[in-house]
Order: sequence, then C-alpha cells, then structure tokens
Amino acid sequence: MKLIFLGPPGAGKGTQAAGVSAHLGVPHISTGDMFRSAIKNQTPTGIEAKKYLDAGELVPDSVTIAMVRERLSMDDCRNGYLLDGFPRTVDQAIALDSISAPDAVVDIDVPDERLLSRLTGRRICGKCQGTFHISKLADERTCPVCGGEVYQRNDDKPETIATRLKAYHEQTEPLIGYYKGLGKLRRVNGDNQLEDVFKAILATLE
Ligand code: AMP
Repeated sequence: MKLIFLGPPGAGKGTQAAGVSAHLGVPHISTGDMFRSAIKNQTPTGIEAKKYLDAGELVPDSVTIAMVRERLSMDDCRNGYLLDGFPRTVDQAIALDSISAPDAVVDIDVPDERLLSRLTGRRICGKCQGTFHISKLADERTCPVCGGEVYQRNDDKPETIATRLKAYHEQTEPLIGYYKGLGKLRRVNGDNQLEDVFKAILATLE
C-alpha cells in the first residue's frame, strides 16, 4: 500500500506513521527526518536544507523531490510506502503522481490552538528517536523508554512554530482539495488519545 499522512506540524503524523508502517509492513519515510540526518552528516542536501529548517520554511521543491525520488527507488519501497511530511506543496504532489502515485491520503486534523502546546512541549530522544510530550515525562531530560537523553527540536521553539504553521496553511493545506478531487482523501480527528487516532486511521484504510 502507498500511503501519505497529511496534517499540520504537531498533528502526530510521525508518531502514528511509526505504528501504522509497522502494522502494514511498509517503510516509514519522513522527509523531516531525512533532512535532519542529512544536516547531521553534512551532505550537500543537508548543507542546502539547513537554513530552511532553521527558519521553519519549506526546503525548495527541486531539492525535496530529488531526495524523495531517490528514496522511493530503493528496494524496500517495492510493496509500498508511508510518506510522512511529503508532499507539502501541490508541485510536490504532482511530481509524486509521476514517480509513484499514492493509493490513499490520510489527513490528520488538529485545530491550530492545540498545535502550539503540542509543539512547544515536544521532546525527542536522541537515542531511540521516540517522541514524548514534556507533561508525560517524570524527568524532563530522560527518555522513559530507553533512558537516553531527550532534547527539543530547534524548530519547536515558539518563534519558528509560527512560520511553520503559516507555511502549512499557505502551501500544504491546498493538498486537501487536490487529493479530495482525486477521491483519495480520508480524514481522521487527530485531537484524541494516541490509540484512538491509531484505530481511526486503520478503520479509514479498510
Ligand atoms: P517535519 O519533521 O516534517 O516537521 O519537517 C521539518 C522541516 O523539514 C520542515 O519545517 C521543512 O523545513 C523541512 N521539510 C520536511 N519535509 C518537507 C517537504 N516535503 N518540503 C519542504 N520542506 C520539508
């Protein structure tokens, strides 16, 4: 199955994508994770992308599409994929249709007023990459799963979040209409407990 998870930053796409991709047996491909790894490894893509991630802006389509095209040509994508964070513009969606068109698009819907606290409170484990909300951590610096050290993403600071939400509304939200027009859109209420959102996603894919 070829799947896309759509939704604003902080909707829970990454967390749900990890569970759903394991359930379906398709690779979870997060363009945000790919860019962060490229930046860490100082690859040419990483060097180009860094200024956009730091500012909370979208990386240019040419760079992003080339990276995804290469990733989707890998062997593990033969039976499908779960794309998290791509496409984010209509031009990216059109490009994806010519590379490997998705079967379904799940839009995880969360109102803006809930996103801010989710994003400012988000913490990532540097060791297992797990994502947690600070309110759920007994110790603000320690991963409850593996004991690794947790950190806050640079772009989860309030000043950058506003730019990311603006980019979402202006450049990514039009994709809802695009995929609705193609009859591929499924909408799920993301403002619920993790397990309930997970069940709703699987139900909408049946
Ligand atoms: P994410 O982890 O999905 O929130 O993405 C973090 C950042 O990576 C975004 O704010 C963008 O700067 C960049 N990014 C991720 N995916 C894309 C994409 N499909 N198009 C452009 N930029 C992207």
